[in-house]
Amino acid sequence: MAPRLERFVSPGKGNGVRATAGIKRGELVYSAEPLAGCVSNKVARDVCHHCFTRRETLLRCSQCKMARYCNSTCQKQAWSGHKRECKCLQSLRPRIPTDSVRLAARLIFAMLSPSKSSSEDLYSLEEHESHLSSMSEQKKQGLSQLASMLELYLQQGVPDHAQEMTSALPPSCREPLSLIAKVTCNCFTISDGELQEIGVGLYPSLSLLNHDCRPNCVMVFEGTKLQLRAVQDINPEEELTISYIETLSLTEDRQRQLEDQYHFTCHCQNCDSQDKDRLMLSGEKSTWRLLKEALPRLEALKAESNWQALLESWSHLLSTVGGEVPDENLYKLKMTDMALDASIHLGNWEDAVGYGEKTLPVYRQYYPDPHPAHGVQLMRVGKLQHYLEHIEDALDTFKEAYQIIKVTHGDDHPMTTELLMKMEECRAEMVQQSSETQPHKNLCIDPMLM
Ligand SMILES: [Zn+2]
Ligand SMILES: [Zn+2]
Ligand SMILES: [Zn+2]
Repeated sequence: MAPRLERFVSPGKGNGVRATAGIKRGELVYSAEPLAGCVSNKVARDVCHHCFTRRETLLRCSQCKMARYCNSTCQKQAWSGHKRECKCLQSLRPRIPTDSVRLAARLIFAMLSPSKSSSEDLYSLEEHESHLSSMSEQKKQGLSQLASMLELYLQQGVPDHAQEMTSALPPSCREPLSLIAKVTCNCFTISDGELQEIGVGLYPSLSLLNHDCRPNCVMVFEGTKLQLRAVQDINPEEELTISYIETLSLTEDRQRQLEDQYHFTCHCQNCDSQDKDRLMLSGEKSTWRLLKEALPRLEALKAESNWQALLESWSHLLSTVGGEVPDENLYKLKMTDMALDASIHLGNWEDAVGYGEKTLPVYRQYYPDPHPAHGVQLMRVGKLQHYLEHIEDALDTFKEAYQIIKVTHGDDHPMTTELLMKMEECRAEMVQQSSETQPHKNLCIDPMLM
C-alpha cells in the first residue's frame, strides 16, 4: 500500500486505514490488481475473461465453452489462471456455478500457485472476517449450499484438492464454508465505464477500508485494476472511507442493507442526522406512495428489458400522480432514470434527453462530493444532447461532467480521455456552425474562448 497510508484501529469499527500525510481531493490514493477475480455470469458472453473489455465478438475457450477472450493474446495470458478452472467448468457443464463459487475457486488456484508477492499488503486473507458467528441461520444455510457447490466444483477439476489445499493454504482458508463466507463479505463488484457490473474481485488490502454513507474516497476500475481516489481533502491521521452500497437511498434502507450484507450498524454523520431523507421523501405522501408501490414492478420490467411496457407504466403513473410529485423525490428520480434507460433502448432520443435533463439538478443535490454515478449521468445526458445537436447544452454538460470525472477517474482514465474528445468535438462544431450562419464573425472566433 502507498506510503501515505497506514493500518490502524478505528474507534468502534475495528481495523481501518488512515492517512499518514495530507491527501488532496482528486489524488490517486491506491491502485491494485485483484488477488483473484472473475467475470460475472450474467455478462460472461459479452466480456473478455482476461482484460474485462466488453466486445461484440469474442473467442470462446474450446474446452469449457464458457470463458471468452478478445483474441489469442488475451487467451494465452489468461491460461495460467484459467487452466484449473477450465477443468472444473468442463466437469459441471452445462451447469455454471454462481459468481461467488467461481471466485472462491479462483482464489484457491491463485493461492496454490502464487505468482506475485503480496508483501506490501496491509491485510491478508487469513485476517478477513467471515462473520459466520453473527450470521442468521437462513444466511448460513445459503452459504452452506454454496460451500457444497464449491467442493463439488473443485473435486472434478482438481481431484486431490483437499491435500493440496492443506499444504498450501492457511488454516482459516481451507474450510469451504468459512472461505465462501469471507469471499462473499469481502468481494468487490468490478464495474465498467457505465458503472454496470462486469465482474467480482478480491483486493485484500482494500477490504480494510471502512464504510461511510458520505465517504472521502471512491473506487473506479480500469479493466480489473481498482483505483482509489480521494473526493475530499483528507488530513493526516484522518480515516479513509468508501461506501459499500448505493448511497442514494433512505437512511433506514441503507442501514438495513449494511446490517444484512456487512453485519454492522452504520453510525456515520449522514445516518445520525438522517441527512437528505426529508428531501428524498419530498411531496405529499399520498401521491408518492403510489410511485413507491409501483417501483418493484417497474424494476422487474427493467430487469426483463421490457422497455415498452416500462414506458407505458411510467406514462400512466405520470399522468395520474407523477406530475404532483417533485423531481427530488427519490421514487420519482428512480423512475425517471428508468424511463431514461428505456427511451435510450428504444431510440426515443428526444424523450431520453428530456428525462435525463430532469435528473441533473436532482443529482447535483444528492451528490455534494464528486461521485462516479453523477459524472456518468452527466456524460450520458451530454451525449444525448450532442447527438440531437443541442451543441451548447452538450458542451456545458460535458464541462460539468469533467469537473467530476477528473477527480473520480483521474486524467489518464479512458473515460476522461473520451470526455475531453467530446468537448473538443462540440467546440469544433460550434465554430463550424457559427461560420456557416455568421460568415463575417468567423475570423474573430477564438476556439479557446468558448
Ligand atoms: Zn481481452
Ligand atoms: Zn476453458
Ligand atoms: Zn451511514
